[in-house]
Amino acid sequence: MDFAQRTIDLARDNVAEGGRPFATVIVKDGEVLAESANKVVQTNDPTAHAEIVAIRAACIKLGTEHLAGTTIYVLAHPCPMCLGSLYYCSPDEVVFLTTRDAFEPHYVDVRKYFEPATLYHEFAKDWKDRRLPMRHESRPEIRSAAVEVFRFWQEHNGGERTASTDSPD
Ligand SMILES: [Zn+2]
Repeated sequence: MDFAQRTIDLARDNVAEGGRPFATVIVKDGEVLAESANKVVQTNDPTAHAEIVAIRAACIKLGTEHLAGTTIYVLAHPCPMCLGSLYYCSPDEVVFLTTRDAFEPHYVDVRKYFEPATLYHEFAKDWKDRRLPMRHESRPEIRSAAVEVFRFWQEHNGGERTASTDSPD
């Protein structure tokens, strides 16, 4: 199977159904492990990007949060949310079929705090300079209590700073 073509077919079918033009196919050992089109329109879930939906399905199927040994095909160079999820699941390789520059003349995504063209620039800013209003809690006792949650986690893990689910590779 041509997995890149499969990714295109999924995205095209999704558009035909009224969905958005994105899809992801996750391949392991030469076979499709999980795949999805973008489901944002169908579910009203702004996080239901194809990458996120497919990564969830693949991890549930394998019973792990690590996707070592997989290649992930994505229709378009990922948004920062999906890029983050790709970093989190550690695939062997990510293959993107179009750049954001190539598809931008044909696609629009209207959001309050970013445009697709400024998305990466926006994320790279210091939090105070981002268009998304953010505030660091000012009460010192609350800040300390928040750090205590991490101390509690550390105690819970025998004083180590390694999560039991960490992948050694
Ligand atoms: Zn995304």
